[in-house]
Amino acid sequence: MEKILVSACLMGKNCRYDGKNSLKNEILQLQKEFILIPICPEVDGGMSTPRLPSERKGNQVVNQIGEDNTFYFHDGAKHALEIAKKEHIRYAILKSKSPSCGKNKIYDGTFSSKLTDGDGVLVEYLKKEGIKILDEHDFMEILKRDPE
Ligand code: SF4
Repeated sequence: MEKILVSACLMGKNCRYDGKNSLKNEILQLQKEFILIPICPEVDGGMSTPRLPSERKGNQVVNQIGEDNTFYFHDGAKHALEIAKKEHIRYAILKSKSPSCGKNKIYDGTFSSKLTDGDGVLVEYLKKEGIKILDEHDFMEILKRDPE
């Protein structure tokens, strides 16, 4: 079966900054056709849960009180990228808007719930490898994937 990287919070892991999850049962249903590999780049990069929320600000990722967490975000993304290469991943289903996992639109660094164009740190790494990124809204497209 093909393997897919999935944001761990979408699979029910309580790894979000607030100690909660973003479980999407419909994504778990994909386990009938795929092997889902959960990753949480923020936790894997060494951050604790719960933690203060962070947002991207230019090339940095900072939390609500201005602490620079850029290192943790890149470390976690590199860890996920290693898994992606080892497992020959072609698709990832990642949580929208996150400074790690968000694709195309992320929070704008003002901590005011405003979005801006851009990708999370992990998404940047995976896109460079040619991995197609889906999120919790468009993940059903995966069923129309190219044959291996
Ligand atoms: Fe979910 Fe990604 Fe945030 Fe981890 S880093 S809690 S997987 S959105």
